[in-house]
Amino acid sequence: MGRYIGSVCRLCRRENLKMFLKGDRCYSDRCAFDRRGYAPGQHGQRRRKFSDYGIQLREKQKVKRMYGLLEGQFRGSFSKAERARGITGTNLLIFLERRLDNVAYRLGFANSRAQARQLVRHKHFVVNGKKMNIPSYLVKVGDLIEVREKSRKLAVISDAMDAVVRRGIPAWLELSKEQFRGTVKAYPTREELTMPIQEQLIVELYSK
Ligand code: SF4
Repeated sequence: MGRYIGSVCRLCRRENLKMFLKGDRCYSDRCAFDRRGYAPGQHGQRRRKFSDYGIQLREKQKVKRMYGLLEGQFRGSFSKAERARGITGTNLLIFLERRLDNVAYRLGFANSRAQARQLVRHKHFVVNGKKMNIPSYLVKVGDLIEVREKSRKLAVISDAMDAVVRRGIPAWLELSKEQFRGTVKAYPTREELTMPIQEQLIVELYSK
């Protein structure tokens, strides 16, 4: 499976949004977006005017990068959202939130989604008592996500759990820190997803 291996800070600068893709560094004065909050590249400081298509494209790129997905993976989530009942844009965001890598990040088992994805792939989690190494697994209400017994001493996990207080655990998840365990209490509602996203623009882009 391919993955983006370039500088993730460039992505924040390109999308003009602090997307918190790098864990601790994002909260420090080394954050590239805080230091140079303009687009990367030679013409990054020029004022840019986007067409309607350009605006829709940037919105899609932003969300895709926020969740660390490649085009095919993102498109797959969109197709699933289209087939589900309800509003496609909202469905899309909820599907993205329900991914196991995102849930592990939200619960504070990792400092970024990229780190969470690697931990999932390396089998550090069990879901409902079974080993699970598929980052795109969609959690369901009632699912129990635990760090495996032998992985609980990993510094990367304990450091992340110490740091999670600064971003907080969303209301649709419940964390039992001592037991390294999280539960899905409900699916997130659109109102609970507070990132600045205009999902309708993505729907318009893919409807062309
Ligand atoms: Fe984005 Fe974090 Fe890099 Fe800042 S440090 S630009 S928030 S990835």
